[in-house]
Amino acid sequence: MTTLQETKPTKEMLNAKEYVNNVFELVKQRNSNENEFHQAVKEIFDSLVPVFAKKPIYMEHGILERMVEPERMITFRVPWVDDNGKVHVNRGFRVQFNSAIGPYKGGLRFHPSVNASIIKFLGFEQIFKNSLTGQPIGGGKGGSDFDPKGKSDNEIMRFTQSFMTELSKHIGPDTDVPAGDIGVGAREIGYMFGQYKRLRGAYEAGVLTGKGVGYGGSLGRTEATGYGTVYFVQEMLKDKGDSFEGKTVVISGSGNVSTYAIEKATELGAKVVACSDSSGYIYDKNGINLDTVKRLKEVERKRISEYVNEHTEAEFVEGCGGIWSIPCDIALPCATQNEIEIADAKLLVANGVKAIGEGANMPSTLEAIDLFLENNVLFGPAKAANAGGVAVSALEMAQNSARLNWTFAEVDEKLQEIMKDIYRNSVNAAEEYGHPGNLVIGANIAGFVKVADAMITQGVI
Ligand code: NDP
Repeated sequence: MTTLQETKPTKEMLNAKEYVNNVFELVKQRNSNENEFHQAVKEIFDSLVPVFAKKPIYMEHGILERMVEPERMITFRVPWVDDNGKVHVNRGFRVQFNSAIGPYKGGLRFHPSVNASIIKFLGFEQIFKNSLTGQPIGGGKGGSDFDPKGKSDNEIMRFTQSFMTELSKHIGPDTDVPAGDIGVGAREIGYMFGQYKRLRGAYEAGVLTGKGVGYGGSLGRTEATGYGTVYFVQEMLKDKGDSFEGKTVVISGSGNVSTYAIEKATELGAKVVACSDSSGYIYDKNGINLDTVKRLKEVERKRISEYVNEHTEAEFVEGCGGIWSIPCDIALPCATQNEIEIADAKLLVANGVKAIGEGANMPSTLEAIDLFLENNVLFGPAKAANAGGVAVSALEMAQNSARLNWTFAEVDEKLQEIMKDIYRNSVNAAEEYGHPGNLVIGANIAGFVKVADAMITQGVI
């Protein structure tokens, strides 16, 4: 049982626990073999027991039974032709999980590992994350098992056009607003926006976020998830009278989230000594040269191993998991789900890690989270720590609706305020429900309550 240490098992607590366990059994039965989805549900359910004990009205309204069932799950065929004229068929997904507080909002992931379980875990988490941002956005997620690695620009364009041809039937600025995620960056969003516009015959800027700044995108969106993660960890450290200054930091991944987490952590005086991609990690004791990483990954689309050709004191180690054996004060997992397993967590703790900020979605297993909490490591869970990306996506939607553009400084200031609010609301909820300092419980409860209250107000739908 993760993160919940009950002190007094009152009758209310026992009832709440039984309710949560029953719904969890139902989730497992109905969604067999969807392990990532089970894991995400379990983490949230365990946190919510004190809420149901205090407010049984949520049980009476069947809130959990309704929340775990997506409002809509769409799967579709994505046929496309490669540069040699060969036909390929991928599978596309969009889960429209919950629209109680706003239009569905959540990224699109293109990665061979994508399946219904991955999309549902991401979509489920997104409900609570979006609620935590304080903005009017519901939860959704999507993607495809398409692998963008090694594809030409033309192949990427043909695939994304085919993907959008079907997806366009289900999205819109007031219904569902996708964005990027793993494998979906500025290039893919550009092609998808072009195809959507062509199909609709109208310029609906608010249908996608993460657009280029020249055609409706927001300044600061590219940086938002990485910067936001660092701002969140900064708040955790500040509460302990500490900061990033002089700290050694390890950040996994070398994509969108990692790049801007490296940038902000460095700006705040830390030394980031390692980052990775799916083939391995680099260790540079002098501190990572971010210009090289950006050029290799964003422009040349090469492997991170090439870094050591230009920085000869750095080392490349094959296998991305080993990155957590590097001693550090702060670890920011920013690559993918379940990248910190219990053995990695043990190494991090043994090496004296002080704080973890989850830039990726669900990067730590439930056992790893428990170990961090038991050892008083400051722990910023994904739905709170990485919510800066979707928060700035909502700011992009607001700018599109108002047909205006804010400056980078204006967006960055709003992002910092949002991350502070998320931190404070999570701390307060954890305290109110008897688990002071536990941000896993705090973030889950703070995100849940707003959505649950809206669902009750709107009736059984
Ligand atoms: P990118 O595709 O830009 O980068 C992903 C990085 O992680 C790459 O370096 C990639 O390596 C590595 N990676 C991907 N899959 C694996 C794997 N199975 N094992 C090891 N490394 C892997 O994605 P993002 O930076 O956008 O996303 C990273 C994480 O952050 C994801 O969990 C995503 O859901 C989450 N997130 C992203 C947001 C955003 O705004 N982009 C918002 C909130 C959360 P390689 O180059 O070899 O593929």
